[in-house]
Amino acid sequence: MSQVKYKRIILKISGEALAGDEGQGINPTVIAHLAKEIKSVHDLGVQIGIVCGGGNMWRGETGAKLGMERAQADYMGMLATIMNGLALQDGLEHVGVPTRLQTSIEMRQVAEPYIRRKAIRHLEKGRVVIFGGGTGNPYFSTDTTAALRAAEIGADVILMAKNGVDGVYSADPKLDPSATKYSELTQLDVIAKNLKVMDRTASSLSMDTDIPLVVFNVNTPGNIKKVVLGENIGTVIEG
Ligand code: UDP
Repeated sequence: MSQVKYKRIILKISGEALAGDEGQGINPTVIAHLAKEIKSVHDLGVQIGIVCGGGNMWRGETGAKLGMERAQADYMGMLATIMNGLALQDGLEHVGVPTRLQTSIEMRQVAEPYIRRKAIRHLEKGRVVIFGGGTGNPYFSTDTTAALRAAEIGADVILMAKNGVDGVYSADPKLDPSATKYSELTQLDVIAKNLKVMDRTASSLSMDTDIPLVVFNVNTPGNIKKVVLGENIGTVIEG
């Protein structure tokens, strides 16, 4: 454990990162890759909580734009995160990593209800805890859930696993060839420069809780481990 920089982490995996090249749905090859990557960090003795997004299946905002009631559409998004959580749980158990799926929306047949103290106990026992259902409230995001759960469980860091993007850039590197990557930022920079890292609610909560964030490309094998060992391969954002 001595070489490990972060002993308890929240790994935020967006729905998009589970979809692979298809851009939607769940790609089993991607799940298998992520499970292997997470196992390599679990093997180091790191305590891991995972918050998964749902954007690969449904986003509340999209429903609202189509004329749905926003809260109703958001509950659909929260249910999508639980499906992703089940897929991740399956992938992790296939590689022998013990897990528990906890959900902020009660669904006893498929997952435990979210109970903070129980989640911490699972982590201490070496189980990966997957937090499904977002915050359980409409109008929020799973980025905010990551910031919230990180604070609740006393995580040392939030790892923002990105799909093909290796950090935070001054502009979209696909559209602007002069865009440069930041290796370090503060949450205040993110808000002031309007950088697309997480939504403003999540940024301001992270600023309040003072938990650092690392944005990195999860598609490259070995990257989660590098971040946990303290190598700056992406962008580090201090609270
Ligand atoms: N959501 C919500 N409350 C939460 C978390 C998520 O209402 O606390 C809904 C919201 O509609 C969101 C969807 O779930 O669009 C999927 O989550 P998110 O967009 O954060 O997923 P990601 O972009 O990470 O895949």
